Amino acid sequence: MNNDCIFCKIISGEIPSKKVYEDETVYAFEDIAPVAPVHILVVPKTHIANALEITEENSSVIAHIYEVIGKIAREKGIESFRVVNNCGEDAGQTVFHLHFHIIGGRKCGIMA
Ligand code: 5GP
Ligand code: ZN
Repeated sequence: MNNDCIFCKIISGEIPSKKVYEDETVYAFEDIAPVAPVHILVVPKTHIANALEITEENSSVIAHIYEVIGKIAREKGIESFRVVNNCGEDAGQTVFHLHFHIIGGRKCGIMA
């Protein structure tokens, strides 16, 4: 738990969110400003700032996050979707707690 982190506060319940999925290591919730009919954020419960902080010790949660992404996509009935992970300010990262956007329910544009 990082006291300055809004996603840590969402995971702990201090800040409300629309929960989509939860287990021991992962939490998923609806993005507050959706860019598509389906826009869900999947985060590890442990505070990892971004992809640069993924190490041998904590990387197993990433595989699990992708299992969860598939589960959520099937539940939402989207067969085609984009997974986005922004790392660093220039890439558009605004919340420094590792998160994967599931974006679907509409045709996506080209990358970048
Ligand atoms: P980033 O730009 O860091 O890749 O994505 C951060 C995402 O978090 C944005 O899509 C933004 O809408 C979402 N977000 C920021 N604050 C909150 C919040 O308090 N609650 C929820 N549900 N989403 C948030
Ligand atoms: Zn955090």
